[in-house]
Amino acid sequence: MNYFELEKKSNKSNARAGKLKLKHGTTLTPVFMPVGTTGTIKACTWQQIKDIGFNLVLGNTYHLYLRPGSEIINHFNGLHNFINWDRNILTDSGGFQVFSLSDFRKITDDGVIFSSIVDGSKHFFSPETVIDFQLTLGSDIMMPLDECTPIPIEYSIAQKAMNRTLIWLKRAKKRWEESNKDKDHLLFGIVQGNRFEDLRKYSAQMTSELDLPGYSIGGLSVGEDKDTMFSMIEIVNSILPEEKPRYLMGVGKPEDLLEGVARGIDMFDCIFPTRAGRNGSFFTKNGMKSIKNLSYKFSEEPLDKDCDCYACKNFTKSYIRHLFRAKEITAMTLISIHNLAFLKKLMDNIRSSILNDNFEEFKNDFLSNYRQSKEEIF
Ligand SMILES: [Zn+2]
Repeated sequence: MNYFELEKKSNKSNARAGKLKLKHGTTLTPVFMPVGTTGTIKACTWQQIKDIGFNLVLGNTYHLYLRPGSEIINHFNGLHNFINWDRNILTDSGGFQVFSLSDFRKITDDGVIFSSIVDGSKHFFSPETVIDFQLTLGSDIMMPLDECTPIPIEYSIAQKAMNRTLIWLKRAKKRWEESNKDKDHLLFGIVQGNRFEDLRKYSAQMTSELDLPGYSIGGLSVGEDKDTMFSMIEIVNSILPEEKPRYLMGVGKPEDLLEGVARGIDMFDCIFPTRAGRNGSFFTKNGMKSIKNLSYKFSEEPLDKDCDCYACKNFTKSYIRHLFRAKEITAMTLISIHNLAFLKKLMDNIRSSILNDNFEEFKNDFLSNYRQSKEEIF
């Protein structure tokens, strides 16, 4: 079955518009997915996420496995039920968190033993157990266990991790197919290879050969320079099959979304908009601003005059600044809603511009405004 319909491809860049047909509804691409780490998008309610218009969100396997854990998720017959979200959920494999959060980890060809960030207890992830847990969650899109390496790192270490990721992917695929739930819960492959061109090429070729419903690009946006990230995306996307969706993991700044789309990416996720929101930073078409800024003391304007989100329709910057200074939780909610709505609208506009053959113009206009103002110092 074809889960992805490629509707339009730009003539001037590799930008694409498509439809991702999932169990809980069709998602239009390119798409940004908000991150609901432990079963909630921080500081927001699910109704607020629905009102913004999202119908695909991300959950973190590592966090959900540790807490609430499979017993509770099983009791409620899956994550959708437990959190009362009837739209699509993509879950990552937990690999990235095992490698970035755990104090202790030991990797073998079998899998990885790691200590819990919650209570220090020891746990084991294998390609098979990670698929089993994501099936328990009932994820609409699942990710296989992969080995992430930091950038920069020695070639031989990156090569070993890339090869292990491929072996693990084959095991994950086998488990997924044997589950007989493969039609409702799609498995993507993850391309690794750090910053090495030949490793990325090899990984993209070998991963593509497994003929999965979609492909992710992992191990980028981990502190490398932008040119490295973009050239790795170009290399990988020149190999990945055109008719399958491509997901760039962990990227969510407006300028990177535009550059990613221009290089043929269809899906993105990042904690950045909500984390920045909780710190008082908000998106505008002229760049990011801080609500702490003294110049907003008497401001009767919304966060962004062009935005029709709940925060912008109802409240002034003066009021939100006051809430933030008073450490009221509502300030974080309002700015998070705005930041997510800003990215949702950006992706909708990107999609329309691709369909109308003027994506490159839209991108240049957006970036020239967005970069016009420097980030405010506060
Ligand atoms: Zn807004």
